[in-house]
Amino acid sequence: LERTFSIIKPDATRRNLTGAINATIEKAGLRIVAQKRILLTRAQAETFYGVHKERPFFGELVDFMISEPIVVQVLEGENAVAAYREVMGATNPANAAEGTIRKEFALSVGENSAHGSDSLENAQIEIAQFFAGNEIV
Ligand code: ATP
Ligand code: MG
Repeated sequence: LERTFSIIKPDATRRNLTGAINATIEKAGLRIVAQKRILLTRAQAETFYGVHKERPFFGELVDFMISEPIVVQVLEGENAVAAYREVMGATNPANAAEGTIRKEFALSVGENSAHGSDSLENAQIEIAQFFAGNEIV
């Protein structure tokens, strides 16, 4: 079984959608094997989205990610990285398929409710940024 890293973003925690998103995750056959609610520091958000630091939306993205608490998770399942990208749907909710988290819950391309790792390598890096090995069960 594979593991991926997930974030329930501030637009979703603010609207009390943590449980609804978790239900979608579990219905898709992914198991939540670690979870905590945290408030990111600016430095943590800048590091996490560092790959986007030259993009025009970077400042807005960092401000958004630290605007409210988030829920960070480790999800486990068969092909978890690709499976969760599918469950999340396209980055822009206008392009997201029916039944996906972003179609159901996202507000805009920026406030899009969920993050999921885009590769197994990044999943391992991102999980290690937020969880110790013994917190994942
Ligand atoms: P994530 O990395 O959060 O899982 P993603 O891989 O689907 O999302 P990326 O291209 O990595 O998309 O963009 C990271 C995040 O930056 C997006 O999820 C979104 O919150 C924000 N973002 C991306 N494009 C835009 C944009 N054009 N305007 C505003 N915010 C954007
Ligand atoms: Mg991404």
